[in-house]
Amino acid sequence: GKHVLEQRLDLTRKKPAQTLDGQVIRLSANISMPDEIVEALELGVDGIGLFRTEYLFMDRYAPPSEEEQFIMYRNAIQLLQGKPLVFRIMDIGGDKQVRFYSFPLEENPSLGYRGIRFCLGEPDLLETQLRAILRASMYGKVKVLYPMISSLQQIRAVKVLMKEVEAQLLKEGMAYDPHLEIGMMIEVPAAALLADLFAHEVDFFSIGTNDLIQFTLAVDRMNDKIATPHDSYHPAVIRLVKRALDAGKQSGIPVSLCGEMAGDPAAVPLLLGLGLREFSVGNSSVLKVKDRIGEISIADAEATVNHILGLTDSEQVMQQLTSYMTNPI
Ligand code: PEP
Ligand code: MG
Repeated sequence: GKHVLEQRLDLTRKKPAQTLDGQVIRLSANISMPDEIVEALELGVDGIGLFRTEYLFMDRYAPPSEEEQFIMYRNAIQLLQGKPLVFRIMDIGGDKQVRFYSFPLEENPSLGYRGIRFCLGEPDLLETQLRAILRASMYGKVKVLYPMISSLQQIRAVKVLMKEVEAQLLKEGMAYDPHLEIGMMIEVPAAALLADLFAHEVDFFSIGTNDLIQFTLAVDRMNDKIATPHDSYHPAVIRLVKRALDAGKQSGIPVSLCGEMAGDPAAVPLLLGLGLREFSVGNSSVLKVKDRIGEISIADAEATVNHILGLTDSEQVMQQLTSYMTNPI
C-alpha cells in the first residue's frame, strides 16, 4: 500500500482549493520554463498564474525568433487544455541579465533599465514577443501581464503598441484572440498607491510581493544579510497589498498574488482575510497552500485581519499569524 502521506497528497491534488466555510479559491502555478506545466497540472492547479518568460531569453546569444517563441507558447497553451495561462512579458534587466544585450553599467540595476522600461526602450523585442503571444492566443486562454509598471503612461504606451501589433497581424491575415486580457504587476509601491487609477486601465492585477517588499522597505531582495521572512508582514507591505485588493474589488477586476508570500502557509489567513481569492505559487508550494486554505474559514481570517491591521510591527503580525491555528480571533 501507499504511504499515508502520499495518499493524503493524492487526495489534495484532486480536490479544489476551498476554505473551511466553502469558499473556492483559485490556485495557479508560477513557472519559468514550459516543462513545469506538466507537473503543475498533476498537482491540480487552475492554470498558470505567472510564466516568467524572461527565462526563455536568458543563457542565449540571440533572442528566440518570433517563430520559435510562437511554437513554445502554443505548445504551452495546448498542454493547459483551456485553463488560463498568464504570460508575463520579459522582465529583463536588474538581476536577470541576458547575453544578447549589453546593458549600460548601472549603479543600481534593480532600480535601472529593466522590466517595462527595457521593453518600451527596445520595442522590436517587445513587438516580436507580443506577435508570438497573440498568434498563440488562438490555441487557448491567454493573458498578458506587464512587469514593473510604475506610471499610467507606461501602461497606456503598451496598449497603443499592442493595438499596432494587432493591426499588423490583421493585415497579414494572422489570427489572434481579440479579447485577450491585459494585466499588470503591482510590484512597485507607486502602482499599489495608484491602484484605483490603474484598475481602469487593465483587466487584472497580479501582486508581486518580492519586488513590492524590496522597494517598499528599501531591502535588497538578494541580500540575505538584511532580507528576512518577516518582511512580508511589515504593516507598510500589508497596507499596500490591501490597497491593490480593495482597488480591484471596487473596479471589479480580479487580483491575484504571485510573489513568494502566496506560497507561505503562515500568510494564507492574512491574504484570505484581506480578500485575496487567487494565489499563484511555485509547484513546490501548491499542495501545502491548498491544504492550508482548507484549514481556514473566511470569517476567522477576516476577524484576524481586522486585528492585524491595528498592529504596528511585523513581529506582532507574525506572532498573531503563528498562533492563528490554536487561537483564531
Ligand atoms: C515579484 O516581484 O513578486 C514577482 C512575482 O516577480 P519576480 O519574482 O519574477 O520579480
Ligand atoms: Mg518582480
